[in-house]
Amino acid sequence: MQIWNGWGDETVHMDLPPAARRLVRDRVGRGTAREDFPLEKMMARVPGSRLPRHPLITTDPEVRVFHSHGQSLPDWVALRRGNLNRFPDGVAFPATAGEVQKLLCFAREQDVIVIPYGGGTSVVGHLNVPEDDRPVLSLSLERLNRLVSIDPYSRLATFEAGVKGPDIEAQLRAHGFTLGHYPQSFEYSTLGGWVATRSTGQQSSHYGRIESLFAGGEIHTPQGTIDCPPFPASAAGPDLRQLILGSEGRLGILVNTIVKVSPIPERDEVWSFFFPSWRDALEAVRSMAIDGVRYSMIRLSNPIETMTQLVMAGRERTVNLLRQYLRFRNIKDAEGCLCLIGFIGSKRQVAAEKRLTTSILRRNRGISLGRRMGKAWGKNRFRAAYLRNTLWDMGYAVDTVETAVTWDKVTTTMEAIEKAITEGMDRWKERAHIFSHLSHVYPTGSSIYTTFLFRIADSAEEMIARWKAAKTFASRAIIRAGGTISHQHGVGLDHRPYLEAEKGAVGMEILRQAFAHIDPEKRMNPGKLVEE
Ligand SMILES: Cc1cc2nc3c(=O)[nH]c(=O)nc-3n(C[C@H](O)[C@H](O)[C@H](O)COP(=O)(O)OP(=O)(O)OC[C@H]3O[C@@H](n4cnc5c(N)ncnc54)[C@H](O)[C@@H]3O)c2cc1C
Repeated sequence: MQIWNGWGDETVHMDLPPAARRLVRDRVGRGTAREDFPLEKMMARVPGSRLPRHPLITTDPEVRVFHSHGQSLPDWVALRRGNLNRFPDGVAFPATAGEVQKLLCFAREQDVIVIPYGGGTSVVGHLNVPEDDRPVLSLSLERLNRLVSIDPYSRLATFEAGVKGPDIEAQLRAHGFTLGHYPQSFEYSTLGGWVATRSTGQQSSHYGRIESLFAGGEIHTPQGTIDCPPFPASAAGPDLRQLILGSEGRLGILVNTIVKVSPIPERDEVWSFFFPSWRDALEAVRSMAIDGVRYSMIRLSNPIETMTQLVMAGRERTVNLLRQYLRFRNIKDAEGCLCLIGFIGSKRQVAAEKRLTTSILRRNRGISLGRRMGKAWGKNRFRAAYLRNTLWDMGYAVDTVETAVTWDKVTTTMEAIEKAITEGMDRWKERAHIFSHLSHVYPTGSSIYTTFLFRIADSAEEMIARWKAAKTFASRAIIRAGGTISHQHGVGLDHRPYLEAEKGAVGMEILRQAFAHIDPEKRMNPGKLVEE
């Protein structure tokens, strides 16, 4: 069963080795575990529904609590510390496109706000219930989870948009295909949610980001249906698929989604490499990207993340061996960087790409650590998210900020983000443990993904204030550096104040006018992405 106030399945637990517990305590101070706000009390707080009765809508308080939030840090604080105070008036679970249509008609007739709900894994406030005189309906896509058709000849599959990661792969694998889209939230997030937030998977360097996997589909808007056929290419004016991608529920409900699929590959391998310095490692991965090496993923950790990952994985022996190696090469202990690199393809293709990679990495003083760490990463790729539960129970909160910048700005931006988070926490006389990695590497630049860990405060208000200081300072640092406010998580409420800095006033007006035309009554997920 899914945990109501944290991440994932309640039977899964990720433990932290003693050295990792010591590391966290040394870096940020002793955490104090706080008692969680109980579900029964939360349910008692849910007010009576303002919705008229409807056969497709439930007003059950527990279901309403579950659909009132995503997985952002403010969502966690609201749930765990008990200051969640806005809930949808009802939740609908349509099982057909016809039922979605009926619910949209009901919403129009009864003047109801609709929040499309995929897997509820948003980390930037996409699903929060607005304060409004109108009732709010959460429209869950959970039952729209089938493979509608597959065309192996054109390598296209049509799915209902509420299908979750594991169900997509299971249904495709039966036909010998894969979508290959693996965000860390894979277990719970949905195809419709991926499209609506422009999601990125861990192996997107091989399969493509969701924007290149999304071939077409059908979105039900308050003005009618937009149908995008899966043209392989088109010069017929601006591509409406680009409007749907990243629309964050503002245009309507994506019901059917056509995606490009690939045959299941012969080989899918992840290797680990180690570099004596960040500079060497950065130059190596940039060379791989511009020299056209066909990797499936590159994850380059900075020195603090390298140390943290090794300690958290309980790899003290590896840490000691690396230390000996660094001493032997006369390199300072705190400067080494770990890099995971993946390859997908036939046995021959993988061997060729691996050879090319090894020669590039050697030129940059990289050494191969073999496949063991890559295999461990593969095993835990979706389980690492459960550490957030473990850390919270120890008295620590974890959040992330992410961006993408061109190569000339990668190091300065990463340093500026980390410094900004430190300054935000300084305001509260608190320390944060901060580390970063490059998660997706492109020929023109890279994404930067920074994690910060800090102590839970006594009150929910102070907790949010600490988080806000770090998040605001980091977001401003991203804008100052010329980065995008999000490489993969989207905009929602949390990134909304920074969107104009990258779209400009004219760009923002285009978005506002598009939403106003399709949804003049501001019914579809109002306030997200663009302010009203
Ligand atoms: C532990 C964890 C790890 C994560 N890792 C990644 C990662 O590796 N890569 C990444 O890109 N993101 C990641 N995320 C963020 C999140 O999983 C993505 O944003 C994901 O795409 C959201 O999908 P969802 O189905 O959960 O959508 P939801 O969270 O339910 O909704 C997100 C937005 O999409 C809209 N929406 C959902 N379905 C539809 C639909 N059918 N039609 C119209 N609008 C719709 C909603 O209204 C909302 O605005 C992670 C989140 C967590 C908690």
